[in-house]
Amino acid sequence: MTLTFEPTRTAALNRLSNFLPHTGRDYASLRNYDLPGHPHVSGLSPFIKHRLITEEEVLQATLGRFSLSTAEKFIQEVYWRTYWKGWLEMRPSVWTMYQSGVQAQLNRVQTESGLRQEWEAACKGETGIECFDHWANELTSTGYLHNHARMWFASIWIFTLRLPWELGADFFIRHLLDGDPASNTLGWRWVAGLQTAGKTYLARTSNIAKFTKERFRPQYQLAGEAQPVEGFPNPERAPLPLADSLDTSVPTVLVLTDDDLSPGFMLDRGLSPVATAVVPTYKGRSPLEIADHIPAFFKSATDDVTDRYCARLGTVDTIAPEDLQSWAASHGADHMVTAYTPVGWTNDALSRATGDIPLRRIRRSYDESAWPYATAGFFKFKEKIPRLVGEIKGLKAA
Ligand SMILES: Cc1cc2nc3c(=O)[nH]c(=O)nc-3n(C[C@H](O)[C@H](O)[C@H](O)COP(=O)(O)OP(=O)(O)OC[C@H]3O[C@@H](n4cnc5c(N)ncnc54)[C@H](O)[C@@H]3O)c2cc1C
Repeated sequence: MTLTFEPTRTAALNRLSNFLPHTGRDYASLRNYDLPGHPHVSGLSPFIKHRLITEEEVLQATLGRFSLSTAEKFIQEVYWRTYWKGWLEMRPSVWTMYQSGVQAQLNRVQTESGLRQEWEAACKGETGIECFDHWANELTSTGYLHNHARMWFASIWIFTLRLPWELGADFFIRHLLDGDPASNTLGWRWVAGLQTAGKTYLARTSNIAKFTKERFRPQYQLAGEAQPVEGFPNPERAPLPLADSLDTSVPTVLVLTDDDLSPGFMLDRGLSPVATAVVPTYKGRSPLEIADHIPAFFKSATDDVTDRYCARLGTVDTIAPEDLQSWAASHGADHMVTAYTPVGWTNDALSRATGDIPLRRIRRSYDESAWPYATAGFFKFKEKIPRLVGEIKGLKAA
């Protein structure tokens, strides 16, 4: 039994409503079990990543069912995503250094045949470590891995196989349907001990056996200690970049990307685009080929959103980032509007599409409220959750 992801908002809403009864004490006690079909986690991440459903909708629904204290663990996990995004937004060089790191390690793979063989074996699930090989195959065939499996996998990649963490993060990002520049890059850095100084995550046989209910017991195969990993330290925090305001008085075109496929929050504020561009940016995820299920998910998800909003989007075209300026000009647009693109490949692609017609990036109030608190570790951020949740409860759905 595997999780499958139908790229529609209806599927996202159904998944949320089916999982809601489990977001309370069940989630707190069972979420770490990595079992076939993943019954104890929501499987919402590909939908949230594309914002076919938003974090605040998930939180609103959860709080409609349980108190904050009963659903504390689930709510905290949703906020982990928010925290990582805010953290990276204020330290954008971590993303560019990661990208340089991937390129440098891929150059090594070209010239060092030993490294190339070990990297290929890990990506193909041919290391001989049964659990690791299983997760490599699960990831490449489904586009999803349970959080605990991601932690074990990253730890074995780094500390047992002694492969560069950047290549592991790149392997994930080429296959994950929920692939996210912040959660993935910082998740790998956290396991490697680069994110939180001196704190590594070491996968242990007994922990894997317990939380897979003995499906796997990698006896005597795993590193017994986490040897330090080389990598760049965390940079100083920069101010949170300002978002743009929405001006509905001039001819505008709308740009839809994989960062946010719920444009209702802008349309409801009076945005009435003369045309809409669907802009695929997934090629920027990695210098290597991206798994086919990623563009397929994006295509169906954008078909879903453009069908649902068809009366409000004007003509809809699929446009490459480099053609956005001429496309916007052909529609007589004064400016382009998009939901805010956080640090990552989509923002990279749109930044390269600059020209006479400005692109305005509109941030959701959810992000605007939470991101400034990602100043230090999650522990400090977590203290703000009751206040943040209080603001959300009054918000309208996306
Ligand atoms: C090495 C590594 C790489 C990761 N890469 C990604 C990634 O590219 N994209 C991504 O969305 N998540 C990533 N995560 C975080 C986490 O594993 C996934 O968000 C989670 O497994 C998604 O499954 P779910 O929706 O069933 O989660 P649930 O447990 O049902 O959680 C609900 C939601 O909370 C958020 N969430 C849960 N756990 C985390 C977490 N630890 N960090 C951030 N957000 C979380 C997700 O949006 C998720 O959909 C990574 C974790 C690690 C350790």
